[in-house]
Amino acid sequence: MTVRLSGSAALRWMLLLTVLAVGTSCRSVGKTLGDLLVPVGQEVEMGNQYAAELSKELKELDDPTVQRYVQEIGQKIVAVCDRQDIEYHFTVIDDPKTVNAFAVPGGHLYVYTGLLLAADNESEIAGVMGHEVGHVVARHSANQMAQALVAQAGVGAVQNALSTEGGTDWLSLAGGMIANVGAQGYLLKYGRDDESESDALAVKYSIKTGYDPEGMATFLEKLFELSGGQDPSTLEAIMSSHPPTRERVENVRRLIADAGNPGGKVGRDELKSIQARIKKR
Ligand SMILES: [Zn+2]
Repeated sequence: MTVRLSGSAALRWMLLLTVLAVGTSCRSVGKTLGDLLVPVGQEVEMGNQYAAELSKELKELDDPTVQRYVQEIGQKIVAVCDRQDIEYHFTVIDDPKTVNAFAVPGGHLYVYTGLLLAADNESEIAGVMGHEVGHVVARHSANQMAQALVAQAGVGAVQNALSTEGGTDWLSLAGGMIANVGAQGYLLKYGRDDESESDALAVKYSIKTGYDPEGMATFLEKLFELSGGQDPSTLEAIMSSHPPTRERVENVRRLIADAGNPGGKVGRDELKSIQARIKKR
């Protein structure tokens, strides 16, 4: 359930106190705090600012064919996903040494060429992108941000920020925190519950878009195996933001089995031609 509140800061503040007082599990408290403290409008505004910063720091891949390829997979997932109140943007980052994909609040998602090269087929890409869309759908960043705000800024500061109509103070408070933790800071803070929720959404979206959900399992497995051997620096980013574990692989396999092993599009050749374009550069 989503609680959407606009206007009354006092009401939000009272609800915040109630949440803090009666919260039962971390996950539900985080979710409720996120709904209270980070309304969708602010999530999107912050995400847009964040994306503007990232566009200066990261190198977008200058290849419309590859960009379109990733955007088309992304939009297929968006069409079936559980959150339609925001716009989604997909960007390929030109960095073949980094196996990573991430989402910032508000619907900006990034896929590195290193991840496109590390995958064996399109269903693996769809699985990873479904996982990232899952983080956005479940508002994990907003929830983490709200918890961090309360923890770091203190309840008093949050109270002051909330008491300003329009939330301008809130934005500057949150903006200061984002500057402190640096780019991707919040992305490293997904908890185990967040990861498993996003994995489950990835499986669901793969099935709904007609991709073989096995792609999510095999890619996770690959990352998990690589974490033992290969140069950890190339994998560092995805490992730290979405650490692959045996438990995650097993959970994903169980979800696929529960869904009756539906199979679906694998897309080996499609990805091969995209990889060839990236390698030629
Ligand atoms: Zn994740």
